[in-house]
Amino acid sequence: VTLSLYIHYPFCLSKCPYCDFNSHVSEVVDHDLWTKSTLKELEHFYEFTAGQTIHSIFFGGGTPSLMPVSMVEQILQKTNDLWGFEENCEVTLEANPTSVEAQKFSDLSRIGVNRLSLGIQSLDQKQLEFLGRTHDTIQARQAIETAQKYFRRMSFDLIYARPNQTVGAWKAELDLALQLSAGHLSLYQLTIEKGTPFFTRHARHEFHLPNDDLASDLYDATTELCATYGLYNYEVSNYARVGEESRHNLCYWNYQDYIGCGPGAHGRLTIKGQKTATRMHRAPEIWLQRVAEQGLGTAEWQAISAQQEFEERLMMGLRLKTGIDVSVFQHPSLSDHWQKCLNSGAMKTLRAENILILTEDRLFASQAGRKTLDSVLNYLLNSDRHSLRVASPA
Ligand code: SF4
Repeated sequence: VTLSLYIHYPFCLSKCPYCDFNSHVSEVVDHDLWTKSTLKELEHFYEFTAGQTIHSIFFGGGTPSLMPVSMVEQILQKTNDLWGFEENCEVTLEANPTSVEAQKFSDLSRIGVNRLSLGIQSLDQKQLEFLGRTHDTIQARQAIETAQKYFRRMSFDLIYARPNQTVGAWKAELDLALQLSAGHLSLYQLTIEKGTPFFTRHARHEFHLPNDDLASDLYDATTELCATYGLYNYEVSNYARVGEESRHNLCYWNYQDYIGCGPGAHGRLTIKGQKTATRMHRAPEIWLQRVAEQGLGTAEWQAISAQQEFEERLMMGLRLKTGIDVSVFQHPSLSDHWQKCLNSGAMKTLRAENILILTEDRLFASQAGRKTLDSVLNYLLNSDRHSLRVASPA
């Protein structure tokens, strides 16, 4: 089992109307306090993970490119002092393409960040405005160019399946993105999350999302066009040239261990042989207070049952094109769950319909299965309560 580290920085310049991440707009952030608190939480996590080395680090948010470079540097230094890095440790930082943030790229690369993930979201000016982004397409392209100058590995995100988007228009935008890309893209279909301004506007019918058929066509067009540029869809929403896959995100999907540090961060750790779920308090001020009082901003610290581990392994592993190495289910705590699942009517139906494919050593979802993964998993894990319903792509 490898050990990775996720650091959550919860602040943004403004709140995007579709976003339900744990992000907050704050005029003033006391970065000295945030640095000290993050370092303190790392020291406390070390008590449970001593002796391991760090496989990958991901600075997410929020907008971690708003962190002072010195804060990132101190976190990397502390991580190295405590655990040390594996050879070729991947260090990714999420950035937005405003010019202020792009100015930091050279310094971030100098202090050890070796992969950048840019929140571009669209290469169409009108769509950036619809998505409530603070950057424009010129800044987006400049940020991609600057990032490629300083980072050998970089990725950027786009949101598609937007209102009124045709397959043709999306293919033109994606084609441009592929010409600009450095071998990795994260391509997400727009989803409407409860509690966001888009949720209210969508409920008022101010805009409509593509129906299931169009969403499915958009997904297929995405996979096909990416393939012509040599990027394969190694995960439901992630496309890469072989070797350019996100090593950090592969840890989640392969059910490896990771520390989740910072407000709202989740983690999965093996402590004395027991897989444990950790979750930090979401509200920044409560997290700060708990870290000051007890060293960790813990809201939840719970042993994971064998049933939960089995389900989580399926939910994460089936996102990958290569699926799951089923030998993990030979473990005594998981084998009964696996046998029950294997012999279930739901599994038989999904295999008969080529939605799930089982070979000698792997279980994976076909393209049709990955497009509808939420429904497939719901059916597989709750088949006594649900019938198979193939809905829009995940
Ligand atoms: S920049 Fe990212 S994290 Fe911040 S509000 Fe927008 S989508 Fe959410």
